[in-house]
Amino acid sequence: MNASLSYAELNAAAQQFGTPLYVYHAEKIEQQYQNLLTHFSATQTRFFYACKALTNIHILKVIKNIGCNIDCSSINEVKLALHVGFSPNNILYTSNSVGFDEIVTAIELGVNVNIDSLSNLEKFGQKFGASKAVGVRIRPDVMAGGNLKISTGHDKSKFGIPVAQLEALKLIQEKYQINIRTLHIHTGSEIKDVAVFMKSAEVFDVLLPHFPTVEVLDFGGGFKVPYEPGEQGTDMASLGKEVNKAMEQLSEKYGRSLTAWFEPGKYMVSEAGFFIAKVNVLKTSGDRIFAGLNTGLNHLIRPMFYDAYHHIDNLTSPEKPTKQYAVVGNICETDTFAWDRAIPAIEEGDLLVFYNAGAYGYEMASNYNARFKPAQVLYQNGEVKLISRADQFEDLLTLQVPL
Ligand SMILES: *Cc1c(COP(=O)(O)O)cnc(C)c1O
Repeated sequence: MNASLSYAELNAAAQQFGTPLYVYHAEKIEQQYQNLLTHFSATQTRFFYACKALTNIHILKVIKNIGCNIDCSSINEVKLALHVGFSPNNILYTSNSVGFDEIVTAIELGVNVNIDSLSNLEKFGQKFGASKAVGVRIRPDVMAGGNLKISTGHDKSKFGIPVAQLEALKLIQEKYQINIRTLHIHTGSEIKDVAVFMKSAEVFDVLLPHFPTVEVLDFGGGFKVPYEPGEQGTDMASLGKEVNKAMEQLSEKYGRSLTAWFEPGKYMVSEAGFFIAKVNVLKTSGDRIFAGLNTGLNHLIRPMFYDAYHHIDNLTSPEKPTKQYAVVGNICETDTFAWDRAIPAIEEGDLLVFYNAGAYGYEMASNYNARFKPAQVLYQNGEVKLISRADQFEDLLTLQVPL
């Protein structure tokens, strides 16, 4: 039932393409999407893959071919989505702190746009008036003294139009007769608690009477996926049930057929990705053993950047009894992947695999220390294909101008 890649498949990819290496699994992405479709109302829900998690065009093609829509965080992601063949209608651009020119470009390309400041909304009104539908991103947490009894747990955020500025928002809407079709709330990432999403529904309930043209309630992304063994992700069955119910109630209450949109990034690709690296050096220091890898925070920054846990296994000898290791990178900087982690006993030359590497792994990689970015490969229908090659030395020079 749970689509995954075997040790043999991961080892085969590493043999063929070398390490470090990102390996993705198309069927797992499809399974995640199917899981969403099972639990949410087919007629009242649309999903937009938040592609900033992983933008390789072959992954985007998998997303498109399974019928999922796409959410973009920059105009270049919008252009990548169009390049891959998504129709503009299936593309959403959720902008933040962007120049108004990007919003104009997105509107002219015909994609759905969410605006997250009064400033850009005003400019939108001046330029487009009522001629184009648009979404507004709301920050739900600051209705202090108002009639909202909300604590979303996501305060002092730069994102969205503070709900306390509802009157100013309405003034701009009325002044230019802006056709606000979507209300958007994205409260953050790794949200396990279904109640947090349902808080958004409460905010929508308060806002809907003020915006008679709204047809779409966009709940954003942020579904939690399990990272540690035994950990639970967001309960999709329960979230689906609650959202379906809320959407029916709101549609009935306001006499409009409302659609729920979601923007899952991590949920779609995190578990479909594996990052494989080789142990270059074992070093003993007191009672600690360092396993030094042929990679570093330049390839997988989440442990150092977010204190994220990534499960690590020994791909070469998964059956050996475990020992404790500090798993570290080769960057001239402290780049620790894990302290005191139990891993099947390691020898130099062994391959280690990091799980949950599909989302925000390669996408946040860099050439720090003038290291090459790793290759990416995709397993689909049991076959593995290169979808981006590793850097080579010339790549480090290509953007530098000879003087
Ligand atoms: C990052 C982001 C998402 C996706 O978040 P995940 O935690 O990867 O699901 C969705 N919507 C917006 C607006 C985002 O910025």
